[in-house]
Amino acid sequence: GSGGKAGMGRVADVLIPQGEIARRVRELGADLARDLTVELEREGSAMDAPGRIVLMPVLTGAVVFVADLIRHMPLMMSMELVSVSSYPGATTESKGAALRGALPKDLAGRHVVIVDDIYDTGQTLSLLQTLIAEQKPASVRTCVLLSKERERLAEAKVEYVGFEIPNAFVVGYGLDYDGFYRNLPEIVVLGEEPE
Ligand code: 5GP
Ligand code: MG
Repeated sequence: GSGGKAGMGRVADVLIPQGEIARRVRELGADLARDLTVELEREGSAMDAPGRIVLMPVLTGAVVFVADLIRHMPLMMSMELVSVSSYPGATTESKGAALRGALPKDLAGRHVVIVDDIYDTGQTLSLLQTLIAEQKPASVRTCVLLSKERERLAEAKVEYVGFEIPNAFVVGYGLDYDGFYRNLPEIVVLGEEPE
């Protein structure tokens, strides 16, 4: 591609600039906060009742996104980090999804919000949704910053999507290639070094 990020090794084209991400994350936070508030009203819970809402960010790609997202959600909530491996090492091909460690065991009757960086093959979110449903939570919502336009290998329910993107490998804003580039403030398509 054209352009490039100085000092970042590979040539990369900006797909979603920083300001656009910030604007959309603010909207997603507001949408989630509104819908969760409706849930609490419906069940007669006080707005500040502890223990009703559990955010579950998926490590490691969702850490940047969730850090920004929660600051647009003025609700009582706790966070439980979950770890799912799908892209080990220097590859851009999905290897399926496997839970690393255990899920929290106290989700019954609570409102769970899964937060991930990207909905790609669907294996990660499908796995998590299946395991979470076994605990009979009061509700489950899934929020991703990005959703790739592609055929899914596993269907998941994703109610909150920041951006639909083409089927390209992207990095930045938490997304990595071999552990790097998570600190880029924008979403970029990773390209090859020019000859
Ligand atoms: P899925 O299980 O939906 O195939 O993949 C989900 C995970 O794969 C994401 O949470 C993310 O960690 C990784 N992934 C999928 N597509 C991309 C991509 O374009 N770039 C990066 N860096 N990671 C991706
Ligand atoms: Mg991930």
